[in-house]
Amino acid sequence: MPAEPSIDTPRHLFEAYERLAAGPTRPIAGGTDVMVAITGELGPIPKRMLDLSRIEELRGISLEDGSLVLGARTTYTEIRRSALCREHLPALVEAAATIGAAQIQNRGTLGGNIANASPAGDTLPILLAADAVILVGGQRGEREVPADDFFISYRKTALAPDELILHVRFPLPRGRELRFRKVGTRRAQAISKVVMALAWEDFGSTGWTNVRVALGSVAATPIRAHATEAVLDGAHPTPEVADRAAETLAGELQPIDDVRSTADYRRMVSARILHRLLRDAGGW
Ligand SMILES: Cc1cc2nc3c(=O)[nH]c(=O)nc-3n(C[C@H](O)[C@H](O)[C@H](O)COP(=O)(O)OP(=O)(O)OC[C@H]3O[C@@H](n4cnc5c(N)ncnc54)[C@H](O)[C@@H]3O)c2cc1C
Repeated sequence: MPAEPSIDTPRHLFEAYERLAAGPTRPIAGGTDVMVAITGELGPIPKRMLDLSRIEELRGISLEDGSLVLGARTTYTEIRRSALCREHLPALVEAAATIGAAQIQNRGTLGGNIANASPAGDTLPILLAADAVILVGGQRGEREVPADDFFISYRKTALAPDELILHVRFPLPRGRELRFRKVGTRRAQAISKVVMALAWEDFGSTGWTNVRVALGSVAATPIRAHATEAVLDGAHPTPEVADRAAETLAGELQPIDDVRSTADYRRMVSARILHRLLRDAGGW
């Protein structure tokens, strides 16, 4: 019978920081990833855990200086019900609605999805496409990490063992559009085979600017497709541009075969999704 870890449940961030600084401690938010990971079958069981469920400083959804700010403990249900999220970042609401079923949405958190850093994490392409910034903190202080720099290699992040994710800031530049699409075995309750977020700003005659094409489940980390972004930057989503962008994306991606899908399928579906999103944006 494996030994159960000891669990601390602080009410304030400074107490949580003290626990983390005292030695290896595994945070737990909703537990929907961590409870699966600590059964002893997937590595050693943590000796000490830190329950974040009473720390109010990690909660809340607000508009601050032109950004939408979500606390790390924000659940998918809270995102779905948030008028601010629906108005300013509907793609995140759409993504939240595809994650697990109601039980997972009630407990699973944005911070947990980010720290877990699965390449299939559904919110992660949205973070990349939206140029989100992740605020992390610990006893040594707080720092902001752009989402682009956060996912270092397979399940390895820029988060130090003594740090927590505190909140995520989504800048809301004027004129920016963001779309989300997930493909799995089923429309609901399925881990992604491909997940994509596309963002752009459009001010008319100059064509699209600041284009972001971000994907999950096609590499060891969530990624941006820079060559495809270059095709779209400065262009409008005409049928010719969409063909070229989709072709570039299929050539740029290097997915793997695994239990959920094949590399070929992922490459083909990614190109199709992009083409479809561009067609919808172009209205043709
Ligand atoms: C049945 C089922 C279906 C699922 N479906 C999907 C799906 O469709 N799409 C998807 O993306 N995911 C899915 N998941 C995975 C999971 O629900 C999400 O990744 C969720 O967001 C994790 O959040 P959590 O609060 O439960 O994290 P936890 O399990 O509490 O923690 C996850 C990891 O993050 C760390 N952590 C948590 N919060 C913080 C913090 N604030 N600071 C630092 N580290 C932290 C923990 O130590 C742990 O390593 C599914 C899981 C299950 C069990």
